[in-house]
Amino acid sequence: MTRNTREAIVVVGAGIVGVCTAWHLLRRGAQVTLIDRDAPGRGCSYGNAGAVGSGSIVPLATPGIMRDALRMIFNPAAPLRIPVSYLPKAAPWLTRFVGASRPEEVRRISDVLATLLAHSIESHLEILNEIGAHEIVRRTGLLCIYPDEKALAKDAIGWTLRREHGLRVEQVARADILALEPEIGPDYTVGMFMPEQGMSTNPYRQVTAIASDFAKHGGHIIRDRVVAVEVEDNWVRAVRGESASYACDHAVICAGAWSTQLLSGLGYALPLESQRGYHVTISSPGIEVSRCVTAADRKVFLTPMEDGLRVAGTVEFGGLTRAPTRQRAEFLVRDLSRVFPRTTIPPDWSFWMGHRPCFPDSLPVVGPSRHRGLWFNFGHGHLGLTMSATSGDILARAICGEPSNIDLGPLSFERFGRN
Ligand SMILES: Cc1cc2nc3c(=O)[nH]c(=O)nc-3n(C[C@H](O)[C@H](O)[C@H](O)COP(=O)(O)OP(=O)(O)OC[C@H]3O[C@@H](n4cnc5c(N)ncnc54)[C@H](O)[C@@H]3O)c2cc1C
Repeated sequence: MTRNTREAIVVVGAGIVGVCTAWHLLRRGAQVTLIDRDAPGRGCSYGNAGAVGSGSIVPLATPGIMRDALRMIFNPAAPLRIPVSYLPKAAPWLTRFVGASRPEEVRRISDVLATLLAHSIESHLEILNEIGAHEIVRRTGLLCIYPDEKALAKDAIGWTLRREHGLRVEQVARADILALEPEIGPDYTVGMFMPEQGMSTNPYRQVTAIASDFAKHGGHIIRDRVVAVEVEDNWVRAVRGESASYACDHAVICAGAWSTQLLSGLGYALPLESQRGYHVTISSPGIEVSRCVTAADRKVFLTPMEDGLRVAGTVEFGGLTRAPTRQRAEFLVRDLSRVFPRTTIPPDWSFWMGHRPCFPDSLPVVGPSRHRGLWFNFGHGHLGLTMSATSGDILARAICGEPSNIDLGPLSFERFGRN
């Protein structure tokens, strides 16, 4: 640490973003305490699809999103669900989301994403190699499949953007798809293969391995529910939990979809929404799959994990407290049977739901706040696993006063206006 080697830093939230941030800060010589109300990795980071790589540079909102969204809202089996009762609450967020779909915004956001994601696999391996867990992230390539050319053409903007950013993208026909993944069913006839992309074979183990290494090297992990950040004369003094108050020089908020709840007392009003996603993992699927496959028409990811074949996806609005909707998981199981028809699916399959922390412009908030010593690193949306190692590194550099080649300007909370 270049400023003061023993500064006390509290990181709130032990998901993948929090553990990577805490790990990078500890490595720079800070005295770091990581606080979570739960054990590390039990939030959204527990059950994602594991896709990692530089290829996800297309923001969620692209031109025509409004038309697509309206069509999906009236189809109960669509990958997007917004309960009618939640529409008034979601409306301001959705208005900003549609604003972010303007072509010039899409281009700008995609440039920012390209910078943030450029070395994502290397950033993960930097941590994992050092902690002896390099096998978790593998460069397997990502295969994106479509029923036909017409469905592929709908995503043309995204594939053009990727090519313009220099990403390796190869169009594949049915025979190539089968050469890569022999189990893919007959409903998928064309695809795009991105050989440079990768995957985490166990996103939960990834969080816990980093957290264990952090603790082994002197980081403190505390289980407590944080209720407030204490500020005096515009300067952070402590993070207050239900069990104790933790004095600090810096506090970093990495509480995923719950982050803004912790900040409302300080007058921040940031447009963070939970996009609830689901997974079903089949421990003995009875088939071999080699890499993460995306069924683009259904917006689902199918990933061979250490503990089974996982199908993950769905975007459901509804906030942080509503019960999960089993029907969303049933659609995922149906998608799994369509993509891999020979999968053995046990009748008693169970499902998981997690809260993706999403800003309307598909970018996280990373950097300083307007209170001295208070830092933000949250809102990584659909790409939190992918971005976490890089975003932890750049925030640790910012706190320690070290240079970084990533401009934090576009990631500032100030982009959402008066706060
Ligand atoms: C179905 C699905 C598939 C996905 N697939 C991918 C993918 O393939 N690739 C990818 O890159 N991303 C993917 N994501 C997104 C990714 O999982 C998230 O962006 C990421 O996990 C967010 O990490 P986080 O650390 O910010 O949040 P979390 O993992 O949710 O961590 C936040 C932590 O804060 C803690 N916390 C909250 N409030 C408090 C409080 N008051 N006091 C103390 N602790 C608190 C929580 O307990 C939690 O542990 C997917 C998400 C879902 C749901």
